[in-house]
Amino acid sequence: VVTRTPLIAGNWKMNLDHLQAVAFVQKLHWTLKDAKFEAGAVEVAVFPPFTNIRSVQTLIDADKIPFSLGAQDVSAHESGAYTGEISGLFLHKLKCGYVIIGHSERREYHNETDEIVAAKVKAAIKHSLVPVICVGETAEDLEKHGASAVPVAQLRVALDGVDPKADIVVAYEPVWAIGSGQAATPTQAQDVCKALRGVIAETLGDEAASRTRVLYGGSVKANNIASFMREPDVDGALVGGASLVVDEFAAIARFP
Ligand code: PEP
Repeated sequence: VVTRTPLIAGNWKMNLDHLQAVAFVQKLHWTLKDAKFEAGAVEVAVFPPFTNIRSVQTLIDADKIPFSLGAQDVSAHESGAYTGEISGLFLHKLKCGYVIIGHSERREYHNETDEIVAAKVKAAIKHSLVPVICVGETAEDLEKHGASAVPVAQLRVALDGVDPKADIVVAYEPVWAIGSGQAATPTQAQDVCKALRGVIAETLGDEAASRTRVLYGGSVKANNIASFMREPDVDGALVGGASLVVDEFAAIARFP
């Protein structure tokens, strides 16, 4: 039996400057500092804005803080004339382990298509970053096609041509649940996460499906995390708003 280490990931979005970021991570570490977290029973990851990654990484290294670090986006390209973009090569050199790809805000405000997401997933893997591939349906999609059709189709494109041995994370984030205070029910999350694990099995094989973590995201709070974590196909959470409040995020990471 493969055991998947639960992953609690905090997507800060465009919040906290580099000084605030350092203070936040110090406080979070202090709040979570006990044997369980040091032993890695739950993996905690933070995803600050690009400008904070160096500062947070330096702190994590210096204080041996057991948090993982990720970026919120990556370029599909490695280098060259792409003004304003950030290469996976640079993120890897800054010791980022993860990168969020295809967040609904990138899809909506930056016109990221499934094909762009797929190219970014390949770029991340090429540079030894674990892509956190976000998929999810809008309220309109939900009404027209049900919950799983759109995320399943998005994930099929994102995983096309990916090496079955690659380390990836999938995040099911219904767009209507993000920042709305209206989370999916645990049963809804389970159903879609199970369908997404089916897509992983279909595209990358059973071994990848049993080892890959599938997260739920969308209005996760301290008072609902345990209900999601009880579901067999939900291996953690991608947390937006609540990841910016130390005590709330720490309580989410202590879900059991
Ligand atoms: C997100 O943006 O990834 C997210 C899940 O946001 P929130 O937790 O605020 O709904």
